Amino acid sequence: MKVTFLGTGTSQGIPIIGSNHPVCLSENPKDKRLRVSVMVEWDGLNILIDCGPDFRMQMLANNFSRLDAILFTHEHNDHVAGLDDIRPFFFRQGDIPIYAHQRVLNSLKKRFDYIFVTENKYPGAPGVKEHIVTDNDFEIEGKIITPVSYMHNRLQVYGYRMGDFAYLTDIKSISEKEAEKLKNLEVVVVSALRIEPHHSHFNLAEALAFIEKIQPKKTYLTHISHLLGFHEEVEQSLPENVHLAYDNLKITIDEK
Ligand SMILES: [Zn+2]
Ligand SMILES: [Zn+2]
Repeated sequence: MKVTFLGTGTSQGIPIIGSNHPVCLSENPKDKRLRVSVMVEWDGLNILIDCGPDFRMQMLANNFSRLDAILFTHEHNDHVAGLDDIRPFFFRQGDIPIYAHQRVLNSLKKRFDYIFVTENKYPGAPGVKEHIVTDNDFEIEGKIITPVSYMHNRLQVYGYRMGDFAYLTDIKSISEKEAEKLKNLEVVVVSALRIEPHHSHFNLAEALAFIEKIQPKKTYLTHISHLLGFHEEVEQSLPENVHLAYDNLKITIDEK
């Protein structure tokens, strides 16, 4: 399994438009972060998690020409705004399978009504095939996906476990029962917004405490704000086997 970090920034991305913050002015490419998303390549399947406003540039930067499924975590704009840009994949492949909580599908239908209409659909609009995610495992072409439910302040979000890899973004709290699904991971990706506490995201200390609890072999932090600090400085401060993700980082996860 190969995972490409397409974007690792919080909702505004880094740099923030017009900001003079030193991290926004940094010339280190690792301090430039598009909105969060990963592509998971798993036995020939290209599974995208979230499809934010930077989706088009992310696909071009990484030369992806096929998309087998999109898993949505939740309906916030930084995770869904790129859905129209699946058009090149739709034109080549037909309807693109999307997986999301019913609530998230409802939100997508409001934002992108023209994608979901069945009558008099504009011929240039993309098409999707909807799948409702519940707390139960589901399959994509024989591969088992385990949804992991947690809270983003008062909003429910799904993270996803695939084999020994799990991706959890926009997390603030998780029940013991759901955390049980995160045992024996090779790699976990978890969001860590900044140093100071935040009402709907783990800050760095909360993310590290969570990792301590689930004990994955390796962790990558994502959904990073400029307020977390410079990539190189934060990276050096982290415990062993915990890293900051950065845009276009590719990692390989060996299957047991
Ligand atoms: Zn977000
Ligand atoms: Zn969010």
